[in-house]
Amino acid sequence: MRTSKTTNRRNSWILISVFSLITLTSFYGRAAGGTSPTGIITERLSVRQMEIWRTIEQKALAQNAAGQPLYPTLQELFSWAKMTSFPIYIEMPEARDLWDCAAGTFLFEKPQAPAQSQPTAVTILLRVAVIDRAAGERTAGEHGFVPFEGLKGVDRYCEALAHELTHARQSVTDLEFLQLADRRKSLNDESVRFQLLRRTAETRQSATRGLQAIADELRLLTERIEGPARAVEQQVWRELRARRDKDC
Ligand SMILES: [Zn+2]
Repeated sequence: MRTSKTTNRRNSWILISVFSLITLTSFYGRAAGGTSPTGIITERLSVRQMEIWRTIEQKALAQNAAGQPLYPTLQELFSWAKMTSFPIYIEMPEARDLWDCAAGTFLFEKPQAPAQSQPTAVTILLRVAVIDRAAGERTAGEHGFVPFEGLKGVDRYCEALAHELTHARQSVTDLEFLQLADRRKSLNDESVRFQLLRRTAETRQSATRGLQAIADELRLLTERIEGPARAVEQQVWRELRARRDKDC
């Protein structure tokens, strides 16, 4: 999930491919040992981060006087995540540098058995500082969904979490999801390599051809992977925004 104005929707597919590299990738061997944990696991959070997490959880599960969820889409997603058969680890790392503009990242541990399509573990990284400083403002003539528009603090964290939790759910409901994510990662790796080659005069032409060759596939894969997550994120944003407008 990207936020910075420098990586907004108007940017070229080249930039998109660079930044999508850090948003969704596979990993190995990060599951906790011993018994098999399931559902949302917050043991990697510091005391201060746990305070933030509790505000997120309170918001996600908030109900009105009649016991109805205040944010139905968020609540349904959060409740699903608590009941998964694999662990969903939550982390809140610091941004590595100014270029690290991913608000959230979804990592998955691939199953050992090839026939198994579900991940054995998922890690969601929420970069709260990146989320806090995301513009969330519509620029002149801009149409469509603008992440975090009109939201602050925990509302923004909830929106980012909804996006990443949707990826977690995709990894269960879409049997091809892990394969597609792997393919996108390898294409992203390739595109980064080509972009480096474009800096050199001798390899510029062939690198440009290489980038064009993978652009369409990358675009389709990104839409397949990110489309559902963006749709749920937008619906959660609507619910958070509607409540916020009501409270103001
Ligand atoms: Zn995403």
